[in-house]
Amino acid sequence: MSLSVNVTCHFGDFQLQVDQSFSGTGITALFGPSGCGKSTLLRIIAGLESKAKGVVNSGAAIWQNEKQFMPTWQRDIGFVFQEPRLFPHLTVAGNLAYAQKRSTNIQSQITLEKVVAALDLAPLLNRRVTALSGGEKQRVAIGRSLLTKPSLMLMDEPLSALDMKRRSSILLLIRSLPETFGVPVIYVTHAIDEVAQIADRIALLSDGRICAEGPLDAILENPELDDLTGRFEAGVVIDAKITGQDKKFQLTLLECQGQALIMPLIPLHIGETVRLRIRARDVALATEIPRGLSIRNVLPARIIAIDSNLESAFAEVILVFGDRKLRSRITRASVEELNLEPGKAVYALIKSIAFDRRGIGITP
Ligand code: ATP
Repeated sequence: MSLSVNVTCHFGDFQLQVDQSFSGTGITALFGPSGCGKSTLLRIIAGLESKAKGVVNSGAAIWQNEKQFMPTWQRDIGFVFQEPRLFPHLTVAGNLAYAQKRSTNIQSQITLEKVVAALDLAPLLNRRVTALSGGEKQRVAIGRSLLTKPSLMLMDEPLSALDMKRRSSILLLIRSLPETFGVPVIYVTHAIDEVAQIADRIALLSDGRICAEGPLDAILENPELDDLTGRFEAGVVIDAKITGQDKKFQLTLLECQGQALIMPLIPLHIGETVRLRIRARDVALATEIPRGLSIRNVLPARIIAIDSNLESAFAEVILVFGDRKLRSRITRASVEELNLEPGKAVYALIKSIAFDRRGIGITP
């Protein structure tokens, strides 16, 4: 069910003004710096912001316009907050049962069994929620939201209180939700690594406005958006298939666009696809196949654009290999010395350790 929002909301000097449709499938990350209005926009969608003026529609259903305002409990949404907000006097099973009772959506395919399996809640069912860890509580909170059988899940920085290890494993669970349950997710975060790991689309919010919205790869590949996505973390995400495991050297072999890649061993199966993040600062370029080099990943690629900022030492080089893009951040001096220009064939050198293993649930 696609969502369209055309709203304004004022708090003193701060003004949120958004006119945007959101995808009815997958995960859309609402990304931007602290104070840009992410939570406010999520609260408006949820019907939790009485100061918002304008229109919010979910498919044919009018959630808000100048004449009517549908209260939160009538909107077909699940909301997961930063803190889990569970009922402390109930067990995990009791919390889940409460949500199930509340649901009126008889068409939904979401069942208790499916939720318990997807979020690995079986060992927790008889526990009191006060005795759970932060990560366990958040898994129960996600399960409870799902069991209200929503047609849209809203998540407001649900992992911010968790350590890196727990965040990784729960990110993997969240990433699987749209496919497992057929429910789209709008996910608020100010962490670009979370975006890169789970999002299908990104909406970039700055100072109360959405400045860009689009597929994850298109947004991350665009150097013009670096001011919003973060220059230091700039890079691309690519999907690669596991083709082998080298136990002797603790390496995993992968294939992407017909090219072989190597990364430190990941405990997944041959044939599985993983999402890898390759940062621009981790990619060097060579005009010939290098010899005597410790870097294992050498990809033949072609330059399609060079973005040089005359006030910086660095240039952003956009490359294509197969139908995927890479970004490389090298000095402008290297660009000149190597005569790099659009159309030129080069080799992209990627350190194997540059792959973001957290994206597959492994902490560095
Ligand atoms: P963060 O990542 O820090 O949570 P955010 O992008 O989610 O930030 P919001 O919480 O939406 O930002 O806040 C946007 C702006 O609106 C901020 O300047 C905030 O102080 C202000 N604001 C939010 N809610 C209220 C409110 N109820 N009353 C007054 N000002 C508010």
